[in-house]
Amino acid sequence: MDKIIYSSEAEVRGSYDVIVAGAGASGICAAVAAAREGARVALAERYGVVGGNLTAGFVGPILGSVGSGTMRDELVDLLEVPDNDWIGETGKAHNVEKAKLTLERFVDSPNIDVFLQSQVSHVLKEGNRVTGVVLSTAEGPVALKAPVVIDATGDAVVSFLAGAEIEKGREDGLMQPVTLEFTIDGVDENKGLICIGDVDNVELGGMRFLDWCQIQADKGLIPQKIAAVRLHPTVIPGQRQVNTTQVNGVDITRPEGIFKADLELREQMFLLEKFLRENLPGYENIRITGSGTTTGVRESRRVMGDYVIDADELAAGCRFPDVIVHKALFIVDIHNPAGAGQAEAKIQYCQPYDLPYRCFLPRGLEGLLVTGRCISGTHRAHASYRVMSICMAMGEAVGVAAALSASRGVTPRDLPVTVLQDRLTAKGVDLFSK
Ligand SMILES: Cc1cc2nc3c(=O)[nH]c(=O)nc-3n(C[C@H](O)[C@H](O)[C@H](O)COP(=O)(O)OP(=O)(O)OC[C@H]3O[C@@H](n4cnc5c(N)ncnc54)[C@H](O)[C@@H]3O)c2cc1C
Repeated sequence: MDKIIYSSEAEVRGSYDVIVAGAGASGICAAVAAAREGARVALAERYGVVGGNLTAGFVGPILGSVGSGTMRDELVDLLEVPDNDWIGETGKAHNVEKAKLTLERFVDSPNIDVFLQSQVSHVLKEGNRVTGVVLSTAEGPVALKAPVVIDATGDAVVSFLAGAEIEKGREDGLMQPVTLEFTIDGVDENKGLICIGDVDNVELGGMRFLDWCQIQADKGLIPQKIAAVRLHPTVIPGQRQVNTTQVNGVDITRPEGIFKADLELREQMFLLEKFLRENLPGYENIRITGSGTTTGVRESRRVMGDYVIDADELAAGCRFPDVIVHKALFIVDIHNPAGAGQAEAKIQYCQPYDLPYRCFLPRGLEGLLVTGRCISGTHRAHASYRVMSICMAMGEAVGVAAALSASRGVTPRDLPVTVLQDRLTAKGVDLFSK
């Protein structure tokens, strides 16, 4: 491969206590939690809106659960979503357009400078210590410095650029498919069914709806790989959030494949609209009202940390002395990396589990914390803790850790976890209940 060497200058725009890269579910909680501890925070986001998958990705409902007292509960209230059970059977997705404003209000604080349309493109390091980031902006490169940087990019961009140990996908390297989520309105609520996914046994005409969908795919009415038609209710009557399109074999960290995937997903979206209109009772008058500005990425890089958690531990409901997220709960939900539906014939259920602080500390690097779907775990474990409730609680815990590290002048790895636990507990976060 041809390589060139180029050099560039970046103006240092600010020195902060904490930089958070990525303003998704986890990053916004990290930034707000750090700011509430008194830290001066920079929050950098590549898109023109905060929220990540929750807004730009049109992803909902907020699935999974965590112990009481976390920022997840605050956000669910702010987003005005009714109480959800952890798997979403009773839950509704938020209003995506309203969420864009709600989440921008949430991060709008005197202690936080938010940089939108600012993509982290380079990491500043002194030895093995991360000391800041360079943002690619319309003004060219802009540098920000801080003693603690939080990688909340989902794709582990900061960790990768800093030279962290990274894993991707399962043993054969394949990752979960990408999906473009979209909303439709015009569903007749008296007739139009809801299907939350592969665990749903909702029926249509005496038959399991998902089996009916499979028959339609066998007839060629929809492609086989999108035969699991997931139709989530939202807080808006007559609206559904459709989580069905999929393209396999895409590695989102490689720019070459993204366009073709997005094109195929957008073709599938209109094909599904037509299919639903023509075949599903109550859906005769639907129309697409919006779609993600981005292909939704379930899985990309995972950062290897001081501890790598695995799915057996989640299934057993493992407890850890250095817990910072408690009673996390979701299934091991692996959308098939190689085809349609689920990857595993039997869905693995979990017991409420802990996430230990060591999963948030990238091996061999200082000054860096990781949060959200790219923390240190296996492919199967990631398939559970990647949901938004759990990512929010992670972000809050890591934001407090970053602020405490900065104020005490220690690296996150040298912060005694009991100090972090005491602070989270004092805020009302449950870390230790049975
Ligand atoms: C199709 C799909 C359906 C899903 N369904 C559900 C569901 O129903 N319920 C649920 O709870 N979860 C669901 N998930 C999972 C969940 O949405 C994600 O795992 C979760 O949002 C991860 O949160 P995060 O904050 O780690 O990452 P993200 O939400 O991806 O946020 C990362 C942020 O970092 C930004 N970023 C990335 N790189 C850079 C950079 N270099 N510089 C600056 N900013 C950067 C991104 O733009 C983004 O805003 C789904 C995911 C997908 C893709």
